[in-house]
Amino acid sequence: MRAISLRPMTRTLALAALAALPLSSPASAHDLERERLLQAQAEALEDAVAWDILEDLTTEVGPRLGGTPAEARARAWATERLTALGFANVRVEDYRMPTWVRGEEKARLTGPYPQDLALTALGNSGSTGPAGLTAEVVGYVDYAAFLADDPANQAGRIVFISNAMPRNQDGSGYSMPFGAPRWVGPNEAAKRGAAAIVVRSIGTDHNRTPHTGNTSFEEGVDPIPAAALAVPDAEQLMRVLERAETAVRMELLLTPRRLGMQPSGNVIAEVPGRDPSAKKVLVGCHLDSWDNAPGVFDDGAGCAIVAAAAKRVMDMGTPARTIEIVWFGAEEVGLWGARDFAERHDGTDYHVVAESDFGADRVWKVTTDLGEHRRAEADALRAALAPLGIASGDYDQAGGADVGPLRAEGAPGLSLRQDGTRYFDLHHTANDTLDKVDPAQLRQNVAAWTTMLLVMAGPVE
Ligand SMILES: [Zn+2]
Repeated sequence: MRAISLRPMTRTLALAALAALPLSSPASAHDLERERLLQAQAEALEDAVAWDILEDLTTEVGPRLGGTPAEARARAWATERLTALGFANVRVEDYRMPTWVRGEEKARLTGPYPQDLALTALGNSGSTGPAGLTAEVVGYVDYAAFLADDPANQAGRIVFISNAMPRNQDGSGYSMPFGAPRWVGPNEAAKRGAAAIVVRSIGTDHNRTPHTGNTSFEEGVDPIPAAALAVPDAEQLMRVLERAETAVRMELLLTPRRLGMQPSGNVIAEVPGRDPSAKKVLVGCHLDSWDNAPGVFDDGAGCAIVAAAAKRVMDMGTPARTIEIVWFGAEEVGLWGARDFAERHDGTDYHVVAESDFGADRVWKVTTDLGEHRRAEADALRAALAPLGIASGDYDQAGGADVGPLRAEGAPGLSLRQDGTRYFDLHHTANDTLDKVDPAQLRQNVAAWTTMLLVMAGPVE
């Protein structure tokens, strides 16, 4: 049995818990550990640190697109805040990355039913030039219909591809085939000689707030102008195409620019563990955001949650393992921070890696991918999370874009899955703002991550 030494604050709490136990059942170390866990959860459900980080970052820095001076301001802000919170070894690992910035964006149907449409350029979109371009629109209900058509019908035209993303809790609608028009549509349309492409936003809302997001073009393919229509505007365009008896023509103005290689970086901080040779626990998020909103759900919340949880553990004592907090740079525009991090660090140095990047709503399920030999640890985590209303999920599954490259190098992973029911109403839109956050659900996230750290990096002494 391991001796437990507590810091004064937690000792008082544990003693209070002890006093509550009946005299006939002396507390075992296990009982004490459980009491400490429940106490830590109760305190985390009152957390104020995450909200402060989220409000301050998204107010004082605002939007912070990868590779831009705004992202550099975010790194400076992050370094200062993580230091002020008391973390150790706060530092930036710099890298350079190709940078794209938005310009003007406008679309108007010139005939047969003239009207404006709400849209926004996709990351890596080409430019129409300042004069814009006007061409006939050819529309498809989905990506498969676009692929099936003769490229001769698409050359020189503005291709429109719809899709219908379903709403669901686990966010699985944000995947193929619904994401295909955005992810691979522009590249394919460019290869087929299209003048430009507009797609229905990958989103579940019906607001006139288009959802931006990255697209990519193969080496050797010249980027064409590529944009996402707001969902109601995509539906409107579909109706126009169905009714029009003459060609539907669109005037499109998109003037993004490429700035070449620009500086970006990952911000890293630590809670040093008692055993420097032990494998570390990495908790991550991404510091960058799209440029059209202050990036509250995506992903200021994730950075606030993981840092607040790590601070709670640090304030309880010293964990057995070092906790590494990584606020990754330039995720949205191509995972540049994640790739740089995986080049410098070795996935096999980690006991587990996990990231928070799915908004600010409550954690509802835990999944792990620790390997069969760590089943007991995976079960201990599930038992610890259960009081927070978190269900047990798969034992061979963990996600996360930023930890993906580390996972590919062999790092074990886990996911604290957040409720994504309304995530894609806000995702990558101008509506990703602070007023959408439910403070109680944000605090439940902090409690879940604190619990995870106590189990995976503990015991705390
Ligand atoms: Zn994100």
